[in-house]
Amino acid sequence: MILHENIRQLGDPILRGKSEPFEADDYIGIQKTLNALIGMLDIVHQRYDFSWGSGMAAVQLGILKQACVIWLPESGYEQFINAQIVGQSKETNTAWEGCMSFFDKRGQVPRPNWIEVEYLDEKGVMKTERFEDKKARILHHEIDHTNGVLYTDHMDDPKDLMDIEAYKKLKQR
Ligand SMILES: [Zn+2]
Repeated sequence: MILHENIRQLGDPILRGKSEPFEADDYIGIQKTLNALIGMLDIVHQRYDFSWGSGMAAVQLGILKQACVIWLPESGYEQFINAQIVGQSKETNTAWEGCMSFFDKRGQVPRPNWIEVEYLDEKGVMKTERFEDKKARILHHEIDHTNGVLYTDHMDDPKDLMDIEAYKKLKQR
């Protein structure tokens, strides 16, 4: 299942590339990239239920720049430019994840309980903020993308990747 033909899919070498930071005064580049991300998330949200939350990194649209957007039903879109993880909990928790670049699979992924992130917001203001729980998980997944990392890299055994149909049946039980 491919969510949208413009989303780069597993096997595309760009997904393993390292995204470059934006110049802080590249307002046009930043705005164009954030608009592309939010535009695509708007589209895929109409095609699939993302009530748990969602996110996308620019590399998934073929743009090797450090931009990502996360979305949660309770807080809406949040935009991150040049995001870097500057701290994280030693404690981790494990939960199911999917990725729009291989959407027909789900995997159980351990991630830190909280992360501290340094980033520029959509207005170019530098921020350092701590994120917890679901937001930490989604943002960690997206920042990983900017470093060429996929969630399967964190799994104990990537062979545990489950087909979405089997996953849905498991969740219905
Ligand atoms: Zn992903």
